[in-house]
Amino acid sequence: MPVSRRGFLTAASIGVGVAAASTVRGPVAGANPFATGSLGMAQDMLQSVSTGSGMIQPNGPLGYVGVTFPSPEEIVGRIRFAFPDGSVDDWIPLEALDSAPDFGSTPASELVAAPEGAVGYEVDAPAGSAATVFDDGRGAPRNYSLGSVGLLGLPVIPRAAWGAGDVSGNRWAPQFHPAQSITIHHTAVAPGPDRAASVRSIYNYHANTLGWGDVGYHLLVDPEGRIYQGRGGTVGGTPVFQVPPVAGIAPPVVTAGHVGGFNNGNIGISLLGDFTWSPPTPAAVGATIDCVRALCNATGINPQGGITYRNPQGGATRNMPAVSGHRDWQPNECPGSAFYPQMQFIRDHAARGWAPRAVSSAAFGS
Ligand SMILES: [Zn+2]
Repeated sequence: MPVSRRGFLTAASIGVGVAAASTVRGPVAGANPFATGSLGMAQDMLQSVSTGSGMIQPNGPLGYVGVTFPSPEEIVGRIRFAFPDGSVDDWIPLEALDSAPDFGSTPASELVAAPEGAVGYEVDAPAGSAATVFDDGRGAPRNYSLGSVGLLGLPVIPRAAWGAGDVSGNRWAPQFHPAQSITIHHTAVAPGPDRAASVRSIYNYHANTLGWGDVGYHLLVDPEGRIYQGRGGTVGGTPVFQVPPVAGIAPPVVTAGHVGGFNNGNIGISLLGDFTWSPPTPAAVGATIDCVRALCNATGINPQGGITYRNPQGGATRNMPAVSGHRDWQPNECPGSAFYPQMQFIRDHAARGWAPRAVSSAAFGS
C-alpha cells in the first residue's frame, strides 16, 4: 500500500523519556511524554520524535526504531537508514506490531533494527506518526548482574536483574486467571550484542511508548538460551504465576499482552530475533522446550493436546493446540516462517518428561 501522505519526522520536537541521567546523550528538549505514571528507570530510550521532515540523527546509538501511528487504519509506512559516508539504504516497509493486550493499544509498528554502522534514519508515515529510538546495546554496556531466580527448576533472570524500568509492574493492574494455553512468539527484531538491552528496549516500547504499563510477554529467551522474566505484577516478583507454584497446585497466571483478545490464561514465550528467514539457535529452542515442559508440568496443560480456549472476560472461544505459535491464533507472521515448522518438535520434546497429573488451579485473593 503506498503512503498517501508524507509526514517526515525531525528532531525539531524531541521528548526524551529517560529518567537515568547517565543515559541521556545530548540536549533534552520538549516535554517528557511519559510524565504521568511511574516511569521507573526507563533506560535506553533515547528520543521520541513527533513532527517535521528529513533524516534524523539521534543523539546516541541508533539501535531500534519503533513507529506509532495516528489510527489503526493507517498502520503503513517505511523507514530507511543513513551512513557516515552519506549513503542511504533502500526503504524498508514497516510491519504492524502483532502483540497486544486485550484492552487495545496504540497502533504501532514492529521494532526495526538499524543496520550496523547506521547513524541516521528517516520515516515516511502518515501525518501524526511518531518514531522512538532505542539503544539495543550498541552504546555503553550497563553491566547488569544477570543472576537468576528459580522457576519450576528453570533459571529465570528477574526483572530487576535485566533492568526493567518498573520493577513492580504496577502501572498495568494485574489480573490473574487459570492457565489454559502457551503461545510461542518471536520479537521480530534481531537482538543486539547486549541481550539485556534488547529486552529493555522491548519492555520500554510496550510499557512506555505504547502505554501498556509493562512488557507483553511472560518470558523472553535469548539466542544463548537465557530466560528473562517479562510481565510483572505478581506477588514477590514470581515469574508468570501470581504466587510460586507448588506440586499439584497451579496458581493463576498474570495476564500479559501478546495475543490481543486471547490473553487471559495464555502464557506468552517470545524468542529474541526475527525468524522469517532463519530459525532460532538450538540453545534458544532448547530453553523454550524446557519452559514449555516446566509450565505444562506445573499447570496440567498437555503439551501435545488440544484445548477449547475460552477468554473468561468476554467469552471469546477458540479451538487450539494447547501449545501453539502466535499465527495459530491470528493472521500474522509470528513466530516466523523459519521457526513455525518447529512447533510440533517443541510439543513433542516438551512431552518427554511431562506426565499427566491432577493439578488444581487454586484461586488466590488479590
Ligand atoms: Zn507474536
